[in-house]
Amino acid sequence: MISTQNRVIVSEGPCEAHGGAHICIYHRDFPENWSPGETPAMAARQLLNLFEKNLDSAGDPSHRQSIELAIADLWAFLRECDQNHEPTA
Ligand SMILES: [Zn+2]
Repeated sequence: MISTQNRVIVSEGPCEAHGGAHICIYHRDFPENWSPGETPAMAARQLLNLFEKNLDSAGDPSHRQSIELAIADLWAFLRECDQNHEPTA
């Protein structure tokens, strides 16, 4: 079990977006964006890519700021995965 800040949520059961049991991750501030992955770290990287794309297309400064915060949380999550020696690639 990964201990992380409670803003990055890992689900290992059926999720709202995909159904069926698998590892899936989302950010508390963007519950509509779920990313599946073989490991929590791989799912987090996918979600990070998604947020970086969203950041490119976000025009509203307050929206950009909340995406940037979510990206920072995901980087912190990935660093925790590294410290737990979980493969990230
Ligand atoms: Zn899912």
